[in-house]
Amino acid sequence: MRKKLVVGNWKMNLLRNEGISLVNNILKNISVDISVNIVLAPSFLHLYKVSKMTSDLTYLSTSAQDCSLNSNGSFTGEVSAEMIFSCGAEYVILGHSERRSNFQETNRELRTKTSEAISNNLNVIFCCGESIKQRKDNTYFDWIKSQISEGLFHLSASDFANIVIAYEPIWAIGTGTNANSRQAQEVHEFIRTLVEEKYDKNIADNTSILYGGSCNSANAIELFSQNDVDGGLIGGASLDYNEFISIINSF
Ligand code: PEP
Repeated sequence: MRKKLVVGNWKMNLLRNEGISLVNNILKNISVDISVNIVLAPSFLHLYKVSKMTSDLTYLSTSAQDCSLNSNGSFTGEVSAEMIFSCGAEYVILGHSERRSNFQETNRELRTKTSEAISNNLNVIFCCGESIKQRKDNTYFDWIKSQISEGLFHLSASDFANIVIAYEPIWAIGTGTNANSRQAQEVHEFIRTLVEEKYDKNIADNTSILYGGSCNSANAIELFSQNDVDGGLIGGASLDYNEFISIINSF
């Protein structure tokens, strides 16, 4: 059965003490018998500390927000997938729209990053999603198909078991306007069908597909109740432990 996941993407927020305090508040207030897997994605600098703080908890893991294309060597400022794994993380987010637009990340680069991550034992949370123009022009299915097929479909079936897909319409990220549950379900079902066509039904049924984009405690229950929505990738609302825990409790 596929995993239910709620991922908190802290982006470039929270100083060390603020991050520690957020993790402590989550741990203090979360019910221990939750059926959801939680993933926290702090900055690289805080990854080791947050991984240490949560290492005893089977339901909580950590993620990086990106990794290098390269394995090691003269790439000043870069962080490799192997380094991320060595700091205790189990996941890496790849292809976030902010990286695609601010750092011109291409599907071709993401294809390499995905392979790099998987060969270093990381699970990948692979982001895709359309702009407002593509939604209005009705070209969003083609766009999402190209992001997924070019970024992921070089993987073998066994490697694909390490992939989580996050549908994040760009027009919904940080805007306060989420995709409604019908829009989210439509795209999630489309993505699951793409995976089934490429691999098989069993793999498609076992792939977690998350929704991201202004998801909060007010809309999570409705979004997570959709057949093909297996959780959320949460930005702004993951920085407030009350809000984040309410989202986790929305299943
Ligand atoms: C994100 O950046 O992945 C995201 C979903 O942000 P927000 O929840 O703030 O829209």
